[in-house]
Amino acid sequence: MDKKCGDESLRITAIGHSHLDLAWLWPIRETKRKGARTFSNVLRLMERYPDFVFGASQPQLYQWVKDGYPQLYSRVKKKVKENRWECQGAMWVEADTNISGAEPLVRQFLYGKKFFAEEFGVDARSLWLPDVFGYSAALPQIMKKSGVDYFVTQKLCWSQFDVYPHHTFWWQGIDGSQVLSHLLPENTYNGSAMPRSLKKIEKNYKDNAVCEEALMLFGIGDGAGGPSPFHLESLKRTKKLNGLVECEQGYSADMLDRIAEDTHGYKKWVGELYLERHQGTYTTQSRIKRFNRKTEFALRETEFACAWASRAAVFAYPQEELEAIWKEYLLYQFHDILPGSSINRVYKEAEERFEILLKRLNEIKKNAYRAVAEQYAEANESMVFNSLPFEVTTQLKTTAGYRKITVPAMGMTNLKECTDDLAPCVAQACVLENSKLRVLFNEQGEITSIFDLESEREVLQANANIFRVYNDRGDAWDMRVNYTDDAFETMRLDRCEWSVEGENAVCTQVFTYGASVLQQRVVLTQDGLVKFETKMDWRERDRMVRTAFPVDVLTNEVECDIQFGSVKRATNENTTWQYAQYEICAQKWVDLSQADYGAAVLNNGKYGYRCKDNVIDIDLLRSPSYPDVAADYGEHKFTYAFYPHRGNRMNSAVVRLAYQLNAPLTVVKTGETATGAEPALPRLFELNGDGSAVIESVKLAEDGKGIVVRLYETNGASCAFSLTPSFAFSRASEVDLMERELTECDTKNGTIHAKLKPFEIFSIKIS
Ligand SMILES: [Zn+2]
Repeated sequence: MDKKCGDESLRITAIGHSHLDLAWLWPIRETKRKGARTFSNVLRLMERYPDFVFGASQPQLYQWVKDGYPQLYSRVKKKVKENRWECQGAMWVEADTNISGAEPLVRQFLYGKKFFAEEFGVDARSLWLPDVFGYSAALPQIMKKSGVDYFVTQKLCWSQFDVYPHHTFWWQGIDGSQVLSHLLPENTYNGSAMPRSLKKIEKNYKDNAVCEEALMLFGIGDGAGGPSPFHLESLKRTKKLNGLVECEQGYSADMLDRIAEDTHGYKKWVGELYLERHQGTYTTQSRIKRFNRKTEFALRETEFACAWASRAAVFAYPQEELEAIWKEYLLYQFHDILPGSSINRVYKEAEERFEILLKRLNEIKKNAYRAVAEQYAEANESMVFNSLPFEVTTQLKTTAGYRKITVPAMGMTNLKECTDDLAPCVAQACVLENSKLRVLFNEQGEITSIFDLESEREVLQANANIFRVYNDRGDAWDMRVNYTDDAFETMRLDRCEWSVEGENAVCTQVFTYGASVLQQRVVLTQDGLVKFETKMDWRERDRMVRTAFPVDVLTNEVECDIQFGSVKRATNENTTWQYAQYEICAQKWVDLSQADYGAAVLNNGKYGYRCKDNVIDIDLLRSPSYPDVAADYGEHKFTYAFYPHRGNRMNSAVVRLAYQLNAPLTVVKTGETATGAEPALPRLFELNGDGSAVIESVKLAEDGKGIVVRLYETNGASCAFSLTPSFAFSRASEVDLMERELTECDTKNGTIHAKLKPFEIFSIKIS
């Protein structure tokens, strides 16, 4: 107490806050009311306390207030103009960043920033995720390319085993991009604003030697409410109080700008900001996870189809409607919805809406494809479309039985081009075999061997695909860290059948556990995949169901697909940081490879894995009782696949096959009026290069003038590519993720040439 205010080398910026979960222990409908109550409470306090400054994130919340309470909204607008109300965060909602896909993360920033710019004239330059369960290593690049320089959170202090070493630091993502990050040193976004808060910040702050400022949020949050007179009176009294550091109310953006001025001595954290807690959320409410992936790919293909139709035919790109669908989809990526930590009603309502959105997207996609098809094909022809940037050769079930077709990348083929050129395969008791693999089963339905006939080697180290049922006494967020020490039961094989379907060898198995039933088609394909097409009717509470593939390779790291790239994680437990990652999150694939051989597990809507030693263990569902007693009860439908490959992951077809698993071909029939008059190319783009550049998305430019194509480099390598649109264009420019023009592309004779750095995201606007 002998210190006087002003003697300190720490300055705290305080700002009123009210963390509002857009759904959690209440449905979305209630959040709209909570938001309005919080905003009007804040406005009332602003009259009474002239130096009170408040901040709120999530444009979705502002949109609800605008729609439901327009007068209140105009009062908020006034306060933003008076610089007393900070529009925080650049994402549409405070979204999960483990499970949300690549393009969806871009759209969180695109629609979030657009809303604040158009409604308030504010350029949101910080990513504000105080409560999200871990942060993808893809974020720094997405942020930088969206014009977002700063990252604010506090959640990492929840980690169970390790303490993050910094509060103010550079965070570097997979491509090398860096953003200035600030973890709230008070370890809460619900600060009391009491002297003890200031003391705690002073005591905790790890980087005070290099940074003299810290941020403090005060108010009641989670269910919102916000600051009260108690907080504001307390702040008044701490002013100029001997023994306390200086604390002034102000904008977080101003504080972040100030600490960005001199970053000398700031340390760096490289890679993901893994939260050592809540790993159950990669799996809980697994239906919502499958809907998330399915809708991500439906949006992707619908935008591709509409972009093509808008160039090739008379077709009005439904920009407004697609933006509305995107925004609703982004809402469901909120950090208590997609991770599975909300009450039952939230999922019931979201699942109903997902069905409606998917149906509508399918209609729009088919209309767009039909408009394209009718330019090229005669009346009543069936055209097969491939939205992926890879040529696809596969069998299709037609009225004439199974037939083989090859569809060009981002293009189409007439179904008449099918051939009967099917490769032979065998399916008989306990054996599936083709020219690539021989798969053996035992009488319990377990896979005892997968033999690679081309490489002449056994792929498995022990029996695979055993359905293990663990007691799961955790909640929606957390499973027991040491659950593998517990006894488990296995699902019992009830019956199985063997069949050949065209060139696929199939084993259909039915397993049971109590009243629960798992029906699985194990399909050996000519791509060298063992696919597991699964239907499950789950009737148990407090259980977790997993399956595993012990792979015969020597490695101590697993490569995991994340948004716009991949990360490698340790499969050993040398350190507490590695031990803490007992469950990890991945997008479409995980891979264990040694220098010359490896195997991957692909999926179309699963995100939780355990990869220790050389086992890939996938979490199929969790049914904890809190906060939804019916979590994962009922029917599930999903596919995962096992893919052994020669060479390491980079030299394999893992990326292509994972995309293919998520984006099947679409068949569209032309109408009576089809002309077939157009002699142009049956594709939207031709992409050439060494294969490591992939087109993630194609969309109409936000300004309506041109098409935006977004690619990224998939191997962590340097690469060059060329892109040839099938339509005439006058200009091609590199744009950032907000679609602001950067430089003109190198274009020759209608082909665009560019080079990519490792994991670089590259967007081109073609107009
Ligand atoms: Zn929250």
